[in-house]
Amino acid sequence: MAVMITDACISCDACAPECPVAAILNDESEKNPYAGEYFYVKPETCVECVGHADSPRCAEACPTEGAIVWDMPYTADFEAYYAAGHEEGKYLIRDHKKKGLMLPSVKSQAFMEAIGMDLRESHADVAASF
Ligand code: SF4
Ligand code: SF4
Repeated sequence: MAVMITDACISCDACAPECPVAAILNDESEKNPYAGEYFYVKPETCVECVGHADSPRCAEACPTEGAIVWDMPYTADFEAYYAAGHEEGKYLIRDHKKKGLMLPSVKSQAFMEAIGMDLRESHADVAASF
């Protein structure tokens, strides 16, 4: 991943148009495991804005403290973490017709290396990091 959207989200839609890789789904999308509740970041798509901006654009746009938080890098080191999250329904990883479930071993994503594991494990507010 990635960044993650929490239940603090008020579904205002300020973030989704800002994402350079269309990783954010609204609360009506059938691909959102939290449909009917709040927005969702696809971890298999989010690149933490690496190569696009100096900080995550979604968090810059978000008016709600604690709605966008850090999650683990979408890399092979966290294959089991994302696979388990998918099984639990926390994530809804894309099931590609030919490649299968798009877990990090199939395609990893860029992440902000400057962000420490302590902030990721505690799902700290992204906006507070900048
Ligand atoms: S961090 Fe960047 S790439 Fe990831 S969801 Fe937010 S805007 Fe999109
Ligand atoms: S900008 Fe923040 S509060 Fe608004 S939809 Fe996105 S995550 Fe939710």
